[in-house]
This record gives sequence, structure tokens and C-alpha cells, in this order.
Amino acid sequence: MKIAVLKEQTAGERRVAATPETIKKFAALGAELAVETGAGETASCADAAYAEAGATLGSRAEVLAGADIVLGVQGPSPDSLTGMGKGAWLVAGLNPFGERERIDQYAALGIEALAMEFMPRITRAQSMDILSSQSNLSGYKAVLDAAAEYGRAFPMMMTAAGTVSAARVFVMGVGVAGLQAIATARRLGAQVSATDVRAATKEQIQSLGAKPIFVEEVKGIEGEGTGGYATEMSEEYKKAQAELVSSHIAKQDIVITTALIPGRPAPRLISDAQLATMKPGSVIVDLAVEQGGNVEGAVAGEVVEKHGVKIVGHRNVPSRLAADTSALFARNLYNFLSAFWDAEAKRPVFPDDDEIVQGVRVTKDGKVVNERLLG
Ligand code: NAD
Repeated sequence: MKIAVLKEQTAGERRVAATPETIKKFAALGAELAVETGAGETASCADAAYAEAGATLGSRAEVLAGADIVLGVQGPSPDSLTGMGKGAWLVAGLNPFGERERIDQYAALGIEALAMEFMPRITRAQSMDILSSQSNLSGYKAVLDAAAEYGRAFPMMMTAAGTVSAARVFVMGVGVAGLQAIATARRLGAQVSATDVRAATKEQIQSLGAKPIFVEEVKGIEGEGTGGYATEMSEEYKKAQAELVSSHIAKQDIVITTALIPGRPAPRLISDAQLATMKPGSVIVDLAVEQGGNVEGAVAGEVVEKHGVKIVGHRNVPSRLAADTSALFARNLYNFLSAFWDAEAKRPVFPDDDEIVQGVRVTKDGKVVNERLLG
């Protein structure tokens, strides 16, 4: 049973889907490992470390030849998979909604594609969830990126020359990234407030020592929401939220936005008119910029300035911490495949009726099979 690890080809992608640590673990299960030369270079994993862990290194064609399972961070372009056998598995973050055509192409190639971002949000799958592991570090990095762009300090400082007041940080969208952003901003000494549409997050915000700012007059999403996910809100809710944000945002120094709705464009949370009420020198980091952006005027891949406010729109934020995000991503993939390992067959075997398998499997036997893509 051969597992191949690809070097990422997407511009700006620095992560890698397996580390020497997970190579060793797969080898201990009896797998043969092949890593594309230079695959881990940008994530601080040297070729020599992979070789020492038990992998052979080679060209893309060499690692793909005869591979049963191919691991990637992002979905590889179908043209680059020449040599991958029919029925072989592709395990990666495939961005199935954003790259829908590619999923059809994988099906046409006869590949069994497994989209790791479709991992169901159940306790058993927590250690396999790439969205959580990557968002966590994105939330942390968003605060550091904001601090780097902000021309002032985060903590209150009492000095002989006078007092520097603490930065006010507002986090919009309190999922995995938002919670980590709150915790990081608190650690840096900021005064933090946060908002979400899911009622369950109120207590989580408070438990991190931040202030919840919630729409009270219109009902949001009760509890956690289905699978922890939000849905598009009613016009009435959006209006109430816009009013609430308008009154709060003018007093903030830093805003971190993380709001997402699966399969839909990111909700617009800050308009240009609201931006204009913010203090000059304020900074907004829009983590949803690649899904359309929470902030009007945010540009993917750029830091722009509007009304004296910097809007940070870095692409692929997890890639900015590639060593750590790769380590977690690689463990997610290992935890997933090893959970289905059949010791006798010396490979993972998927029961067709398993909730996890049904969640992540997007193509099989030449067809797109996932109900989230067919519905
Ligand atoms: P996400 O990335 O889909 O969205 C980020 C946040 O934005 C969410 O909290 C969402 O409610 C919020 N949001 C959406 N629209 C908004 C709007 N208009 N205004 C304000 N906020 C808005 O979410 P996520 O970070 O992937 O996770 C959400 C939840 O799922 C978390 O509570 C997390 O604990 C849970 N979760 C559970 C598991 C598991 O049990 N295996 C795994 C991962 C996440």
C-alpha cells in the first residue's frame, strides 16, 4: 500500500500534507511512503527528514506511480495527476464548492476524492477536522497581523511619561478562528468584545474574559446552530445587526472579522459608511476575504487603506504559519486514515455506511457522489 505526498502547486501555498512525524506513523502501520522532492521545504520539513522517517523521495511522476492514496493540502490540478491509477484515493482540502468543476474532473479520472473540509462535526471526527485546526491558527495570526499594522500598542502601559491606553478589539464571528482571536488579543492586553449570530457563543465569549455584543431585539440562531454552522440571516436581523455594529465600531481600534456560511458568500458585516466612522489608524483584518469578504472594500491578497483605516486581506492565512499548520493538518489526515486502518489488509478500508466516509467522499467510480454537491 503506497501513500504519496505531493508538493503543493498553488501559488502562495507553503504547507505540506504530511510531516516526518506522520510519515513515521504511517510507516509503522505498514504503508510504503513516497514524498515529492521539496514538498516540505516551505514548512520547515527537509527532504532528509522525510527520508530518515522512512519515505522515498522522487519526482511527481515517480511518487504518483502505483500510489493507492495521494495526500495534498489543496486539490491538485487534474492535469498534474497523470499516472494516478483509477480507484486511487485523493485526500486533501478540495474546496468542493469553490472548485466544483474540478470535482467533476476528478470523477472523470476515476479517482476517489475525499474532501477533508466536509468532515462532519461529530466528536469522533474532531481530531480529523482540518477546518478547526487551520482556523485556530488563523485566528491567532489575524491578531498578530493586526498588531503589526497598528501604529500603537495593545496593552495599557503606565509609564513615567504618561499612560498608553489599551487597544479595543472587536471580533465578529466567534467560531474556531474568532475564539482564538479573542484569546490572543486578551493575552496581548487588549480590551476585547465580540459578536456572533449563534446564541451559544455568548457564554464562550464571556468565558474568555471578553464582552458579548449581541442583537437582542431579533432572534439569532439558537444554541450552536446545525453542526456549529450559521445560515444566512433574515433581512430584519441584518438590519438590527447593522445598527448594533454602527454604534459599536466607531469606538474600536481593531476589528477581526471571521464570519462564514458554508457554501455561500461570506456575509457583509461592515459597510463603507460604517468604515468611515472608525478612527484613523484603526485596522481591520478580514479573514473571510477569499469567500467574498465581510468588509466592503477588502481586497484578497492586499492591505488597502480606506477612510484612514487599514483593511488587511491576506490570502491563505494558515499558510503564513506553515510549519505549525502543516503539523496539525498532517495529523488530521493521519487520524482520519488510521481510524479506518485494517491491520490485515494493511490499508484503510471504508465502510460505505460510515458517517465520516459519507461526509467526506465526493467522487467514486467515475461519479460525483456527495449529497452536498448534488442537492
Ligand atoms: P465558520 O468558520 O463556519 O464561521 C465562523 C463564525 O462566523 C461562526 O461562529 C458563525 O456563527 C459566524 N457567523 C456567520 N454569519 C455571521 C453573521 N452574519 N454575523 C456574525 N457572525 C456570523 O465556523 P467554525 O469556526 O468552523 O465553527 C463554528 C462552530 O462549530 C464552533 O462553535 C465550533 O466549536 C464548532 N465545531 C465543532 C466541531 C466538532 O464537534 N467536531 C468541529 C469544528 C467546529
